[in-house]
Parts: sequence; structure tokens; C-alpha cells
Amino acid sequence: MSVPSPEDIMKCPICLETMQPPIIQCKVGHSMCKSCITGCRISNCPTCRSQLTETRNYQLEQLIEGLQKVLKLQCVYYYKGCKYDLTQQDKQTHEMECKYRKFHCEGNKFANLNCDWKGEFAGIYKHFKDSHPNNTRMEYKTDATMKISLNRDFKDVQIISFFNGQQYFYYKHQIDVTKQKAYWHFQLIGLKSQAENYYYEFEIHNNSLRKFKVTEFCTSDTTDINTTFAQEKCVAVSFTGIKNYLNEFGELHFKFRIMANKKTRH
Ligand SMILES: [Zn+2]
Ligand SMILES: [Zn+2]
Ligand SMILES: [Zn+2]
Ligand SMILES: [Zn+2]
Repeated sequence: MSVPSPEDIMKCPICLETMQPPIIQCKVGHSMCKSCITGCRISNCPTCRSQLTETRNYQLEQLIEGLQKVLKLQCVYYYKGCKYDLTQQDKQTHEMECKYRKFHCEGNKFANLNCDWKGEFAGIYKHFKDSHPNNTRMEYKTDATMKISLNRDFKDVQIISFFNGQQYFYYKHQIDVTKQKAYWHFQLIGLKSQAENYYYEFEIHNNSLRKFKVTEFCTSDTTDINTTFAQEKCVAVSFTGIKNYLNEFGELHFKFRIMANKKTRH
């Protein structure tokens, strides 16, 4: 007879996941999550059909809680190639940011490009090149002259290849008429912990000596951009301020550069 694995022993007979405290038992002693039987009509043990009790299994609860802090679990996208081993605590956060998750077109999400593309990380850049060539105009080091209209709301997203696809970033720009603000920010397509290793320098300039310069950390594409804009952890310029830099054609000169912060890189 084979010995059941620790995973099998900790598996709840109802949800088939690792049991989560509070854990209760049947009269005979089989354990299951209390949350699995509250809310549904189960009154007998799914294993032996004897009566369920309110008796907790404290030792098993402690054992599972202790194990989950040290046990490393595979990312749900392991089968696609993700190499991350995670504790139960970190698993969910990681899987929301994991490069192997399903992606939706960011042009649709951020800039209303009306595109229903869904796909893999590896296909994002190609998708932009094929379907949104106007959104692939920028590089990680860019000098731009852009017509700015302060009378209407505007959003732009550009995909940026960093050192030949070593990483990919989104350039996000918004003109918000209600707030009378213009925003720019750069997001790494990847984990929040990786995004912290990148920053950008952004400079608005005109032909005089005046310059407006911001240095800021990149965030992950999974960090809500509206929050970043609202907190102004980005380039945020008031319309009053921006007017000082517009030329007679209503154009703005700016340049930016995305950089890796080697000191904190691991
Ligand atoms: Zn359960
Ligand atoms: Zn039982
Ligand atoms: Zn993963
Ligand atoms: Zn698209």
C-alpha cells in the first residue's frame, strides 16, 4: 500500500484543496474545512457519511498554517514554463502578475483602441506591431515633439522594447481636462518586484533654458495606472505649467529614457 503524500493528507474531501482553518471533523474523525460545509446543505461526512460535528482539529490547523509558511508551491502557470516557487501567501499575488498569465490588449484597456485581442506575453509586441503600428513609435530613449490639445481628454499607450526585447514597457500618457493635468508614466510588463528595478527620466524643454525634469520609478502593468496618476507618482504637469512649454504650433518637446537601476537589481 502506498503512503499518502502530505498534500493528500491535507486535502479537503469537499473543495479538494488544502484544508483551510477552521477545520472541523465528523464523529469518526475525518477532517474538512468548516467553510466548505457552511452555506451548503452537507450534514454528513463525505468520506464515511457519519454525522458532522463542530469539533475543531486544532493540531491539523496549526500544522497546515505552519507548513504553508514554508512549503513552496508551483505557480499555476508552471506548465507554461514559469519557474517561480511560492509560499501560499505569495502565490495569488504572483499569479496575478505572472508573465505566463493571459493578457488582454492594453491598447483596448487604456486607450480605447477597440480591440479584443487576448494572448500570451510573447505575442504582445507582435500584436502591437501588426494591429496598432501607431502605438509602437517610441523607444526606451526617445526625443519627441507632440501636438498637445488641452481642450479634450486624450489617452495614448505605446509599447516600448527595452534593449531588443529584454523587457517591454508601456508608455502611458493622459490629458485630463477635468483635472487640468497632463500625465506620463512607464510600466514594465511584468512583476511588481521587477518593475522596482527600473526608473525613467523625463524632461520637458523648450528652446530657452527652462526645463521640467522628473525622475520616477517604473511600476508594473498590473499596478492600476489611475492610482499612479492620482498619487502623482509619475510625470504630472498642470495645464498652466504645460502652457509655458508649448511652442507657437501648440507642440511640446520632451524626451525620456528608461533605465535599469543596477544597484538594487538582483
Ligand atoms: Zn474544503
Ligand atoms: Zn467521516
Ligand atoms: Zn508564474
Ligand atoms: Zn490590440
